[in-house]
Amino acid sequence: MQFAKPLPSYLVQRYHGWKATTYSENQAWYRRLATEGQRPRAMVISCCDSRVHVTSIFGADQGEFFIHRNIANLVPPFEPDGERHGTSAAIEYAVTALKVAHLIVLGHSQCGGVQGCIDMCKGQAPQLEAKESFVGRWMDILKPRFELVSDVEDASEQARQFERQAVVASLENLMTFPFVSDAVKDGTLSLHGLWTDIGEGGLEFYDPEAKSFAIV
Ligand SMILES: [Zn+2]
Repeated sequence: MQFAKPLPSYLVQRYHGWKATTYSENQAWYRRLATEGQRPRAMVISCCDSRVHVTSIFGADQGEFFIHRNIANLVPPFEPDGERHGTSAAIEYAVTALKVAHLIVLGHSQCGGVQGCIDMCKGQAPQLEAKESFVGRWMDILKPRFELVSDVEDASEQARQFERQAVVASLENLMTFPFVSDAVKDGTLSLHGLWTDIGEGGLEFYDPEAKSFAIV
């Protein structure tokens, strides 16, 4: 593969800095992680957005979270069609092999994927409607829920509500996976919906009784 290049120097420097400090000060712990294998208690499904810092907001170390990130933290419905499903594969491994106790879907403010879906629903993003658009077809998972927020006049409030709908849609789709719903019914797995406000550092959780989000 002749197109791969060496790492840019700023990353090489940062790596050596980490190796000389964080790693060397905790070498025994890292070696134990390597030999004992991973036993994460939770899986987190969050957005690819670089501002969503899952491990930072929970003060989590290596080995604690099994993390899957995709555009707009979406879980597709259970579709055992023999095709390639990266998100479904991650969920299957976390639930059936790692047997995580918690499965957390973490949405966030100012989500570009959710905004793209809003634009598409308003007919303002023909590029996302093209069959070839991977982002557009991925956001189709969320599209049917636009009617729930279509009456919200303020654009930023509409986006915030739709971001929360992305979390609820993912939770509902998770329950279409037989191994997820079985584990939930057995009481060995619990599902959690969260939404974080990037600018304010806020965190809200989905309350199924109230069918709304509340501050953590
Ligand atoms: Zn996002």
